[in-house]
Amino acid sequence: MDDRFEAVIGLEIHAQIATKTKMFCSCSSDAFDHEPNINTCPICMGFPGQLPVINNQAVHKGLAAALALHCQIPAFSKFDRKNYFYPDLPKGFQISQFDQPVSMNGWLEINVGGEKKKIRITRLHLEDDAGKLMHAEDSTLCDYNRSGIALMEIVSEPDIRNAEEASTYAKTVQTILRYVGSSEADMEKGMMRFDASVSIREKGDTKLNPRAEIKNLNSFKSLESAIGYEIEQQIFLWDEGKPLNKNITVGWNADQQKTYFLRDKEGADDYRYFPEPDLPPLVITPDFIDQLKKEVPELPVEKQERYQNEWKISESEALLLCSQIELARYFEEVVALTNDPKKAATFITSILMSHLNRDGFSIAETKIRAPLMAKLIAMVNEGKVSMNLAKSEVFEAMYMEGKDPEVIVKEKGLVQMNDEGKIQEICKKIIVENPKSIEDYKAGKQAALQFLVGKVMKETRGQANAMMVQELLKRLAE
Ligand code: ZN
Ligand code: MN
Repeated sequence: MDDRFEAVIGLEIHAQIATKTKMFCSCSSDAFDHEPNINTCPICMGFPGQLPVINNQAVHKGLAAALALHCQIPAFSKFDRKNYFYPDLPKGFQISQFDQPVSMNGWLEINVGGEKKKIRITRLHLEDDAGKLMHAEDSTLCDYNRSGIALMEIVSEPDIRNAEEASTYAKTVQTILRYVGSSEADMEKGMMRFDASVSIREKGDTKLNPRAEIKNLNSFKSLESAIGYEIEQQIFLWDEGKPLNKNITVGWNADQQKTYFLRDKEGADDYRYFPEPDLPPLVITPDFIDQLKKEVPELPVEKQERYQNEWKISESEALLLCSQIELARYFEEVVALTNDPKKAATFITSILMSHLNRDGFSIAETKIRAPLMAKLIAMVNEGKVSMNLAKSEVFEAMYMEGKDPEVIVKEKGLVQMNDEGKIQEICKKIIVENPKSIEDYKAGKQAALQFLVGKVMKETRGQANAMMVQELLKRLAE
């Protein structure tokens, strides 16, 4: 970025709360990949005389997310009508929270390139979702399955300075929501969307300039690209002597990789907010908050610290293992079964993850379930199979077929050779065949010893106990 300027970015994240039913009615909230308009009722279709009822579970899960984001939860909050007309909003208003949201004043720590940074969170409030419009050639179709689905909106302070920080923050929120179980946050199913407010100012300046709000970004990639583009665009306009002079709302065209003007940004006044007359206020007791606090699980940062401090896992491995709750659970299951966190971390992060990433699978899809992974590690520790073969041939067969490592080792004849006499014989033979290497080793070249170890391993098809080979070669060299 042009070093005369700094970008000032705030993010609004809309995440679908993981509830079976919608925010104010008992329609199913399973909106993905269904026949249009099957999950609807007079309430979420905004029929006259409709009476909404607050979904308890949505409040519960929303508050759990708020606590995980270090928000304060006031004793009293309420719902408000946010009035606007849109074809996918049959009520003519959205039920949201205006001046007394269910939580506020939180923060979140993100890790960008090894640097930690705190992003303040203005508020997390509850609201219902709109439907979905599908534009055909000469008509527009409405699907109201999403209409009324429970959402939480998480609003950050303008503490973000570039596209990378923005997507790291968004990913961290996603991870936390999944840890807490408040949202599946599956972007491909439309369960999480971003609005990014972007402005620029000269370095050293502290005032906030007019901003462009980029609406409805539905992937981390589009979030990053749109912010990057918008910053460049605003710098360009600044240099032309035409900086943004009012807040505007823009969209993102992914095909052209450009933002485009939608409208002047609406202010709170434009929505004519007023308290929702059909819903009681939310009264949250301290007892309930205490109970909720107990339900908030160990969070990614806490887990990562525990892995590093108690289990002596490296920072990069710990970061990776905590990046998804399913991965952390898998790891912890393997540790519980092997009592060997270090090997578990190595096998999972270096071998299993690289295979899964290569093939585009998630940890939930791997055929190597945690008990099988634990068995493989136990076999290495018990000297039943060499580390080399465990990481290569045995692992490959497990990965492809999900077979028991004990069966694979038996079938392929890969049992580790621990017979000292036999290994010694082979070592002697290799020394005789490689007189130069043994001289080099005696002259102090460590690499020559590794070369000889490699020869012995090759001779035994990788089955010799490598530690034993090393020791024996050293002894024979004396
Ligand atoms: Zn309904
Ligand atoms: Mn909203």
